[in-house]
Amino acid sequence: MKSDIRVCAAWREAHDRPVYALSDTCPVCGSETTNSAPAPFDPTDAYGEYRRRLKRRRRGDGEAPD
Ligand SMILES: [Zn+2]
Repeated sequence: MKSDIRVCAAWREAHDRPVYALSDTCPVCGSETTNSAPAPFDPTDAYGEYRRRLKRRRRGDGEAPD
């Protein structure tokens, strides 16, 4: 099934995290959205680092920090 989920093109500047939408404009900041094509495991994936950082932060949550 093809995903029509889009992501705010300016989320890095406007938000702390990606803002997803189904419309052509971000419901939060009004910027245009781009198609959030799934990139399962691509070293050039722009969101990969974000995801890894988030995971690290989550893992530290509730556990003793390094
Ligand atoms: Zn936005």
